[in-house]
Amino acid sequence: MRRRIIAANWKMNMNIANGSIYLNNLNKLTSIHRNLEVIIAPAFTLLHPLSLEIDHRKFSLAAQNGYFKDQGAYTGEVSFAMLKDLVKYAIIGHSERRIYFNEDHQMIRDKVAAATRNGIIPILCIGENKSERVANETKKVLSDQLTSALYNLTSDEVAKIVIAYEPIWAISTFGGEIPKPTDIQKAIDYIRYQISELYGLKIANQVRVLYGGSVNSNSVSAYLALDGCDGALVGGASLNYLEFSKIIEKGYLIDKLG
Ligand code: PEP
Repeated sequence: MRRRIIAANWKMNMNIANGSIYLNNLNKLTSIHRNLEVIIAPAFTLLHPLSLEIDHRKFSLAAQNGYFKDQGAYTGEVSFAMLKDLVKYAIIGHSERRIYFNEDHQMIRDKVAAATRNGIIPILCIGENKSERVANETKKVLSDQLTSALYNLTSDEVAKIVIAYEPIWAISTFGGEIPKPTDIQKAIDYIRYQISELYGLKIANQVRVLYGGSVNSNSVSAYLALDGCDGALVGGASLNYLEFSKIIEKGYLIDKLG
């Protein structure tokens, strides 16, 4: 059975004091749940202090990025080798990194490989932009992004990965159009189909596929109810602990209903 995920991407927000207060408050509102994993992805600066504070039975930490070389003269970079004691997951291929920091297929492939060889599970973000969607190129974009990012992994490594389908046009900072759950269903089905074509059905059934894009406590249930949707990656709405705790609550509920 695939363990459901609700993940918070804090992006470049919160200092150590804010993050610590937030998690202290969220902790009070959150219970331990066997079938739901809550992941927090704060900035690098918060990873160490938060890793000392959090209840690891309730929360897992993710990095928002990492560099693909393990060490060396790369001023300003933080490698997955340095992150491996701190995080279980790392977000890789987020559209903000692809767009603002020019991360291409090759770099994302190298980052996925580097995270994996350091024992960190990639949360690989993929998704089409608005013009690709209008041109009916969604499947091609998803296929290209998936095939290239997973290229250096073994089937067993692919089985552990988390894919976040994040159509760029639905991300709050890039337009925040609200997608129809049927659109998301099609994309999730296609992602799993593509993985099964590349690595076989058994592996495709182990991979967790999340949805991300303007998710909030009102919309999350409709996405979580989709067949094969294993959770949500939440940006803007995760910055408020009360709102995020409501999203987690909806995750429990879906879980209880099976
Ligand atoms: C994101 O950037 O990963 C994201 C899902 O953002 P938002 O929820 O704000 O659309």
